[in-house]
Amino acid sequence: MARPRFHRILLKLSGEALMGPGQFGIDPATVASLAGEVQAARAAGMELCLVIGGGNIFRGMAGAAKGMDRAQADYMGMLATVMNALAMQNALEQLGVETRVQSAIKMDQVCEPVIRRRAERHLAKGRVVIFAAGVGSPYFTTDTGAALRAAEMRCDALFKGTSVDGVYDSDPKANASAKRYDSIGYDRVLGDDLRVMDAAAVALCRDNDIPIVVFNIRQPGNLARVLAGDGTATIVTNEE
Ligand code: UDP
Repeated sequence: MARPRFHRILLKLSGEALMGPGQFGIDPATVASLAGEVQAARAAGMELCLVIGGGNIFRGMAGAAKGMDRAQADYMGMLATVMNALAMQNALEQLGVETRVQSAIKMDQVCEPVIRRRAERHLAKGRVVIFAAGVGSPYFTTDTGAALRAAEMRCDALFKGTSVDGVYDSDPKANASAKRYDSIGYDRVLGDDLRVMDAAAVALCRDNDIPIVVFNIRQPGNLARVLAGDGTATIVTNEE
């Protein structure tokens, strides 16, 4: 299936994408290089919303596994996503890309609250809008936050930048003969538990007809290639 071209996208990056060679935290050089990819997409005329996870700093489930209250740990995870959003905002603005951060948890001294109409105005002015703090509630993930913002901002697609180049029938890091799909249906992803994103996020995209494009963000220049309809990726839609 030929991949369609999109105008307004939501780009979801996991927190791990910011770690670079490190085991945790934020690697400024890696963030700068990701910002360069976003800048190129912006320069090509794309309207961009960004959601960045927080797993490089804190993951609620891991905290809960060590005995923390799950909701408390999840709030810490949401705050981690705000730090990542601010790091990306800084890197983008150093490249001259105007940005606004909107957080689902209000913190007026740091960024704007999520206001959809305001975000629309930012996009119209050519700014990149970075949505932080997921959906603002524990027991969710930033994947679900990304699907929610993609729906309310009426994005043409959700681009999920990961460390693999698409959706496979089994884990390509564990199984050398794993087969990559060029395109696949939401229901197959959910039915076969293919772990593209969490199930709530996939279902939200399915119910709102938002294609999910899974691609490798670690290859330099890949975002531009995939946005142009080239490069290796898997598109998840209602059609197989
Ligand atoms: N989180 C949450 N609600 C949300 C989004 C995130 O509670 O709406 C918490 C949750 O603890 C999660 C952490 O923030 O583990 C970091 O987000 P995520 O794991 O999605 O980050 P990623 O894997 O993309 O780096």
